[in-house]
Amino acid sequence: MLNIDLHSHSKCSDGLLLPEELVARAATNGAKALALTDHDMVKGVERTRAACDKVGIHFVPGVEISITWGGRSIHIVGLQVDENNQQFVDNLDANRSGRVERAVEIGRRLEALGIPDAYESVAAKVSDPIIISRKHFSRFLVNTGVCADTTEAFEKYLKKGRPAYVFHQWTTLEKAVGWIRDAGGIAVIAHPGRYEISGESLLSLFDEFKQLGGAAIEVVTGSHGRELYPYFADLARRYGFLASAGSDFHAPGENYLDVGKIPSLPEGLTPVWQDWF
Ligand code: AMP
Ligand code: MN
Ligand code: MN
Ligand code: MN
Repeated sequence: MLNIDLHSHSKCSDGLLLPEELVARAATNGAKALALTDHDMVKGVERTRAACDKVGIHFVPGVEISITWGGRSIHIVGLQVDENNQQFVDNLDANRSGRVERAVEIGRRLEALGIPDAYESVAAKVSDPIIISRKHFSRFLVNTGVCADTTEAFEKYLKKGRPAYVFHQWTTLEKAVGWIRDAGGIAVIAHPGRYEISGESLLSLFDEFKQLGGAAIEVVTGSHGRELYPYFADLARRYGFLASAGSDFHAPGENYLDVGKIPSLPEGLTPVWQDWF
C-alpha cells in the first residue's frame, strides 16, 4: 500500500467532511502525504494545510479543474499550486460561475421526471450554490430513496446521455494547463479511465496535454477500476508522463478507496511526488 494520496475533496466543494475531519481520517489511515483537490477552488487549502501540519502529514496544495474537451467534461488536477496567486483564484472563480444555472436546470429535469425539490434540497445543504456538483444531486437521489447508491444515480440520471444530464461549457484544456503552470503547479489528467471515450480520443487527449506542458496522469485512482491500473501505467511509460495516485475520496463509502490508503503504483513508473518528500 501507498500512504500518499494526491486527490481528495472536502465540504468546501462536494466532499462531506470538513478539512479537519478529512485530515483526521487520513491520519487514522496512516497517510504520509495528502493533497486537497477541490473542484475549481482552493478555499479549503489553508485549513487543510494547518490540519496536516498539526499531525505531521505532508500537505500538497491542489485543485481539480473542470474542462470541456471534445464535447465532454474532463478533469485536470493541479498539484503544488499557489493558492495565493490571485489571477489563479480569479480564473477558478470564473470557471465555477455557471454551476448555479446548471444546477437549477438539473433540478428542472429531475422534476420533469417526477422527482421534485432536488435543486432546493441540494442548495439548502451547501454553503453557496456555486459549489453544487452532480455529486450533491447523486446524494439527494440516494437520500430520497430514488437510487440505491450514488453510482446508480449517475448511471440512471446524471451522466452524459442520461435524462438529467445538463451539458456545461467549462474552460479549455489549454487554459487549465496554463493556469496550473502559471500558479507554479503540475498538471495531471484525473482518472483517465472514467471518461467513456474511445481509445483513439484518449490518445489525442494525451498528445494535446503533453504538447501543452501537462506532466502526469493518475494511474491509481478510486475513480477508475483497479483493472485499469496496468493499462494506464503502460500509457504513462509510453508518453513519459509522471504517475500520480489518489483516492478521489469525497465521503466514507462513496468509492472503493479511502483517503490516505492507496494501492501501490505499478512497477517502472516515475511518481509525480518523487522530489517532494
Ligand atoms: P460536476 O462537476 O458537477 O460535473 O460533478 C462531477 C462530480 O460528480 C465528480 O466530482 C465526481 O465525484 C462525480 N461523478 C462524475 N461522474 C461520476 C460517475 N460516473 N460516477 C460517480 N461519480 C461521478
Ligand atoms: Mn467531486
Ligand atoms: Mn474528477
Ligand atoms: Mn475529484
